[in-house]
Amino acid sequence: MNVFDPFAFRQCFPFFNDNEAGSAASIYFDSAATTQKPQVVIDCLNNFYQQQNANVHRGSYQLSAAATSQFEQARVVLQAFINAPSIQEVIWTKGTTEAINLVATSWGLNNLKKGDEILLSYAEHHANFVPWQVVAQKTGATISVLPLTRTGIIDTSKLNSLVNERTRIVCCSHVSNVIGKLNPIEKIIARAKQVGALTLIDGAQAIAHYAIDVQAFDCDFYVFSAHKAYGPMGVGVLYGRKSLLNAMSPYQLGGEMIKKVSLTETTYNDLPFKFEAGTPNVAGCIAFAKAIYFLKQFDESLNVYEQQLVQYCYQALKTIPQVRFLVEECPDIGIFSFTVAGHHNQDIASGLDSFGIAVRNGHHCAMPLMEYLKVTGSIRLSLAPYNTQAEIDFFIDTLKKIITNYQLSTDKRVLITASGNEKSMTINSDNILALFSSLKGWDARHRQIMLLSKKLTKLAPEQRSQKNLITGCESKAWLNVSKTVENTYIFTADSEAKIIKGLLVIVLAAFNDKTAEQILAFNIEDYFKKLGLLSHLSPSRSNGLNAIVKKIKSTVKEL
Ligand code: PLP
Repeated sequence: MNVFDPFAFRQCFPFFNDNEAGSAASIYFDSAATTQKPQVVIDCLNNFYQQQNANVHRGSYQLSAAATSQFEQARVVLQAFINAPSIQEVIWTKGTTEAINLVATSWGLNNLKKGDEILLSYAEHHANFVPWQVVAQKTGATISVLPLTRTGIIDTSKLNSLVNERTRIVCCSHVSNVIGKLNPIEKIIARAKQVGALTLIDGAQAIAHYAIDVQAFDCDFYVFSAHKAYGPMGVGVLYGRKSLLNAMSPYQLGGEMIKKVSLTETTYNDLPFKFEAGTPNVAGCIAFAKAIYFLKQFDESLNVYEQQLVQYCYQALKTIPQVRFLVEECPDIGIFSFTVAGHHNQDIASGLDSFGIAVRNGHHCAMPLMEYLKVTGSIRLSLAPYNTQAEIDFFIDTLKKIITNYQLSTDKRVLITASGNEKSMTINSDNILALFSSLKGWDARHRQIMLLSKKLTKLAPEQRSQKNLITGCESKAWLNVSKTVENTYIFTADSEAKIIKGLLVIVLAAFNDKTAEQILAFNIEDYFKKLGLLSHLSPSRSNGLNAIVKKIKSTVKEL
């Protein structure tokens, strides 16, 4: 076994070229959402479009034949990667989501009926929940759900009762995208077989970390996406047992999936083409094979390094008393989900973002899991072997600072903002613009927004009602309005998240004490632009801001 060199590995990714490990420039801790792409994959995509671009399976010219050959060769690479018995069992899809929808539609809708059961687990991504829910609604089948152990894996002690003669298919993740724990899929598959149920394994989070052998697993379907394993977006694979795929009807209809079409009748193509209607993502599939080659050149030492990083991060997070992991025990792969006592997830995530650290916050497309674990969401940090201990150290230091409000309490600008007296300060759009005009960079602006959040007077519980809720905000936010005798409006608002509170102060500064005409005429886009916020707010946060403005404008129109 060689010694894995994380810095050499990191250099394969142009994304990191300008960013030194541990600097505040850019620390990418969201590889579970999508990994960065190595140069070889990017080059492969470029080469295809620059020099080899032609459609596959159609042209009688050399260019098309070459594209077809590369495309089919990529399928062979994927077949070997997952040890599928036949090339006909490797279906290209857009990704995990499409692969599951394919099975749910083509197999589920045609084979399930009232009295049948679909067995899922609480740890499923929405991609492995919603398609089955719809199939159940349409066919009359019911959904049962496997519980989890305290350590976050599927509880196999419940297998015997939950997998029974009514169970027709068991669908579960190989590794949860929230908990990062490896599920005992072999046991689950073996139990499903005892009752003649099919099995679908969602390998989206496993594919970059574990050897996948569908023959050893003996599952019926295995699905995954390229972009979570250094490949491009918009490509994925459905492995399916040939006998089942042959018996299933096509998922989409059109070119490529046919053998013969007459005015009245169509005969379908053989596998795998029967399930590949339309022009596939040729460049993406070829580049996915390149990503697999890339990954395979590193031996076991890569996994050893990953494990060291996981342990290092887990131990470091454990030193922070406010950190609450969603489940007990260290995760199996580098996915850490936690909350921070006394802080809103969004505030922590946006605070880290202001230091150039990218982590996720929210429900991670796993709302049933959040409900099961009795949390509204979590912060998720996910690692890949291009991450380093230095980055983790920087993250831990930053998180500690955010938690202790070090940044806020030592910042002098709050005093300037308040003109030495917080109560006497008039918060209006001119003052806010003046305040932001001297700020450089997102971290300074973010800090200022957090400072402003303190100026929002808390709403009484009765004012935080369903009626006052602003829909469309990332975190809960409420708005109240009253009209003065001068026909101007006074808005008060509140939110669970500090960042939203700060943004509310900025928005209300523009609208408070104004008439309906002034409110409707105010150019909020221009205001945000001048404040330097537009380029830094994530789409969901921008949507939240727009939702607040929309609510204000619609309220004054109604009154
Ligand atoms: N399943 C799991 C476990 C995932 O983590 C994800 C994506 O995060 C998906 C399914 C959906 O993958 P995609 O969006 O690539 O289709």
